[in-house]
Amino acid sequence: MDILKGKTAIVTGASSGIGYETARLFASEGANVIVGARRQSELEKLVALIEADGGKAAALAGDVRDEAYAKSLVELAESRFGGLDIAFNNAGANGEMGPTAGISLEGWREALDINLTGAFLGAKHQIPALLRRGGGSLIFTSTFVGHTVGMPGTAAYAASKAGVIGLMKTLAAELGPQGIRVNAILPGGTATSMAEAWVDTPEKLAFVEGLHALKRRAMPEEIARSVLYLASDAASFTTGSAMLVDGGVSINRT
Ligand code: NAD
Repeated sequence: MDILKGKTAIVTGASSGIGYETARLFASEGANVIVGARRQSELEKLVALIEADGGKAAALAGDVRDEAYAKSLVELAESRFGGLDIAFNNAGANGEMGPTAGISLEGWREALDINLTGAFLGAKHQIPALLRRGGGSLIFTSTFVGHTVGMPGTAAYAASKAGVIGLMKTLAAELGPQGIRVNAILPGGTATSMAEAWVDTPEKLAFVEGLHALKRRAMPEEIARSVLYLASDAASFTTGSAMLVDGGVSINRT
């Protein structure tokens, strides 16, 4: 398969979950993939797996709150693979959860810093590289939480991820004339390590599954397939889209 043949992509949050599956899928579709997350050892294992499958990848660990890290990921894409065509700014964290009046300023800032400022810093350094290629695809991971559904106890997470949608729409308008498409994926509940905080008992898991029209959560590879669509030429007229891939959690009332 070669949907992304000749393309180079950055994937952040690639050590597990949605980012991990997307990095593997991108590589299996012919892309050179720069994988980022905080743990180099986890990333090296992923690179070895991709290479064993005949793909090409390189790893660089760091924190998306660090501007120098955002710059280094782009430099690695250009030095190792000759340019950048796709960036999936996916790294994210729940931040402090619970009733809003009890959230600490530190916990609030942590969610904003990782989810929103991290996305901004990624894009800031990816844009010049995408322009040097004459265009490309920027993709962010947001969520239905705080967009189509208000959920108690998620203020910092919801605000940071809604901010990502505002960032995405601005960038889509700014960069469309230069051939860069910018979109966000909005997954429903997805079975990853991060989601465990939301479903730490069988009762909570059953409740969350029941919120979805499909009566289950996504597997991360199902979200990855939608990210592949946004990255590929199949989405050549799709920009500025907050794309729900949410198993119907936004429309379900049963
Ligand atoms: P995950 O825990 O498996 O993956 C999160 C990834 O982000 C990991 O690789 C982690 O190392 C990385 N990360 C976290 N903080 C970081 C930091 N400061 N710097 C660099 N990397 C950092 O969880 P996931 O569900 O795959 O999460 C991926 C994205 O999907 C997140 O942005 C999350 O908010 C979003 N999302 C998840 C769900 C869900 O139900 N799982 C639903 C909607 C949106």
